[in-house]
Amino acid sequence: MASKMWERKKNHVAHCVVLPYPSQGHINPMVQFSKRLVQRGVKITLVNTVSISNTITRTNPTSFEIETISDGYDNGGLASAEGIEAYKDTFSRVGSQTLADLLLKLQSSSNPVDCVIYDAFMPWVVDVSKSFELKVAVFLTQACSVNSINFHAFQKSLQLPISDTEILLPGLPKLAPEDLPSFLFKYGTDLGYFDLLLNQFSEIDKVDWVLANTFYELEAEVVDWLAKIWPLKTIGPCVPSMCLDKRLKDDKEYGISIYTPNAEACIKWLDDKPKGSVVYVSFGSRVGLSEEQTEELAWGLRDCGSYFIWVVRDSEQGRLRKGFLESSEKGLIVTWCPQLEVLMHEAVGCFVTHCGWNSTLETLSLGVPVISMPLWTDQLTNAKLLVDVWKMGLKAIADGKGVVRRETMKRCIKEIMETEKGNELRNSAIKWKNLAKNAVDEGGSSDKSISEFVAALVL
Ligand code: UDP
Repeated sequence: MASKMWERKKNHVAHCVVLPYPSQGHINPMVQFSKRLVQRGVKITLVNTVSISNTITRTNPTSFEIETISDGYDNGGLASAEGIEAYKDTFSRVGSQTLADLLLKLQSSSNPVDCVIYDAFMPWVVDVSKSFELKVAVFLTQACSVNSINFHAFQKSLQLPISDTEILLPGLPKLAPEDLPSFLFKYGTDLGYFDLLLNQFSEIDKVDWVLANTFYELEAEVVDWLAKIWPLKTIGPCVPSMCLDKRLKDDKEYGISIYTPNAEACIKWLDDKPKGSVVYVSFGSRVGLSEEQTEELAWGLRDCGSYFIWVVRDSEQGRLRKGFLESSEKGLIVTWCPQLEVLMHEAVGCFVTHCGWNSTLETLSLGVPVISMPLWTDQLTNAKLLVDVWKMGLKAIADGKGVVRRETMKRCIKEIMETEKGNELRNSAIKWKNLAKNAVDEGGSSDKSISEFVAALVL
């Protein structure tokens, strides 16, 4: 592998290579962070895998250079691999080689690279980048609370399997085992993902910066604790500027989408609904509901009396009972929607969410209260924070079979849409919305961190 010191020309512009893990929820925040860097005059080369780059339906951020590397599965990515273990191993091997080829090319260009910013799911990037004598920043796409829990498990200062009924970790509220990320709570159920999550920290001692998609005021205590052991900067929420400070012109959406949204249909449908009358329901880009859960949710939505928009991806449509929509006059089902525009719409009164970290930051940035229905991984912890710490939602409690029943869903929707408690949760969400805006606005905690990062890039 080449290791050759390169020289900056007089008119050199700080240049970052940005490497997201190939999934929608990981690409979105890194694209958004990149826009904040471009705003400060940094050149960005965004690197996707070949398979993702073949799937993307829109690309707006023309202010980036776009390049590709290979994960070894150019015709289908993770979905075409034998499983997550095989995918990880192949990606690490083929990704290292193709990244080295790319860096070699970029380092002989007129404006070589200063820093590689990589998603923590790809720790092999560190050695490749360091072999080119580049600065390296790891980008953590999950909440700092979750990063800290996973880090304790990585270090074995959180013993697995969990035997305690209460988990006490520095800077975090008291947690029950079921509030931990699912791969820890149900240790041994999915060792491929378990490794992926814990190995995020395997190279963390070698990096120059740890960038976290959160904001200081949201997770102050755990951020303070982590900042003692890592060169940590909180730079979020990494959501489009129109949701927050509005300082990036025309920045209404992430701009890179793997799925095609039914944008017009959603917004037109929302436009004639009364203020705060619609329940928005989505479980993100990756997991699906079981048939039984789909059925229970469908009944709960039909019977709750509110309007609803429910995102049921193409791959999940088969689980929906035939004739359901026809029997429900107040619903709209779409295969994908422009989530930010929907959450921003004044007709939307609450969000039934799986509590993915992007959805969590988006709903918080837009002041929409939630009904949490976490399914796996960090969603369990995010749900705990949304409901018990940030107090901007209700938890839809599942039964012994892990299914949220129709009566539970109906009760939660009625409580949030029709009662004083719902108003309190909404007010709390608006409080977080203002704090999130302040963090990214001029002089805010994240704004300052990003400026410090940029200033140090070419030192
Ligand atoms: N999203 C969207 N339209 C949809 C559903 C989701 O644009 O119909 C976006 C959402 O705004 C978020 C991302 O997809 O940015 C999902 O990320 P998250 O971390 O919430 O969940 P994941 O997909 O990783 O489970």
